[in-house]
Amino acid sequence: MSPSVDYYKNLLDRLFDGIFCVDRKKKITFWNKSAEKISGYLYNDIAGDTVCESLLTHCPDESVSGCAEQCPIELTLADGNTREGDLFLRHRDGRSVPVTCRIEPIHDSRGQISGAVQIFHDNSSRIAARNVIEKLRKLAMIDPLTGLANRRYLDNVLQSKTDEMKRYDLSFGLVFIDIDHFKNINDRHGHDAGDQVLRSVAQNLSTVVRSSDIIGRWGGEEFLAVVLNLGQEELEVVAEKMRKAVEELETDANDGPISVTISLGATLATAGNGLDKNGILRKVDELLYTSKDQGRNRVTVG
Ligand code: GH3
Ligand code: MG
Ligand code: MG
Repeated sequence: MSPSVDYYKNLLDRLFDGIFCVDRKKKITFWNKSAEKISGYLYNDIAGDTVCESLLTHCPDESVSGCAEQCPIELTLADGNTREGDLFLRHRDGRSVPVTCRIEPIHDSRGQISGAVQIFHDNSSRIAARNVIEKLRKLAMIDPLTGLANRRYLDNVLQSKTDEMKRYDLSFGLVFIDIDHFKNINDRHGHDAGDQVLRSVAQNLSTVVRSSDIIGRWGGEEFLAVVLNLGQEELEVVAEKMRKAVEELETDANDGPISVTISLGATLATAGNGLDKNGILRKVDELLYTSKDQGRNRVTVG
């Protein structure tokens, strides 16, 4: 004896995935327990209702309500093709539930499309985990004091720019920046004021470079900027703008405004120089120390 219809319904109710079936007019003919759980609608509440009007609409993103361009179930009823995608369903309580769904046509004994079945599962936990990972990834790349890129991020950028330079014969500018006599600032005004100076210098430096350039905190009171699409003369101009911007900056502290200066080393990295990432860093560090040796608050380009 073959199993009864109830046996199959029971089986479908035990599945983890939500499943529902509609007829050609999108009226619900079957709705399993997981579909109840994911959507908040009980079968008894909605049996015979039409999906995708007020009920269980498919949304391409969280903010959109209703089936966007066209309802995927309607499309499958029309062309008999299977559809798959990540969408949002509107839960009974109004919130959007991210789901992965698959819609298949159902054929009658003559091979005509008589309805469709949608199989779907709740992606909330997967998306929440992805968001957490994305936040952690950002945190791992950002310097918490200044909000600029951190050394790890800069190191990655430098590696990829050096690779590109060799592969495509592209050049890029590198500017190494160190605040002058910063120890004195901490000693005179306290560590918190020192932190405040670091934040305002960081903010100031980042307004000098273009949004496509990368500036970050290398460590302590040192910053590194990777500046793109320029030649040696323009590089000198950018570095000089940075020096001047910081020289003119005043940071408010409890005991009055604090002014600092910076020393800079800048170089245009080109494939012709034959330097690798560490070689370029060593060079820019030496140029910075030339600026220190020659009296600070200056730019040395080499
Ligand atoms: P120079 O002109 O030769 O660069 O002198 P300097 O005093 O700036 O250099 P030095 O390397 O002697 O001192 C750097 C100081 O930066 C010492 C350290 O306490 C301070 N510093 C490093 N990181 C931080 C930070 O996150 N906050 C504060 N407030 N100070 C920091
Ligand atoms: Mg230093
Ligand atoms: Mg210093």
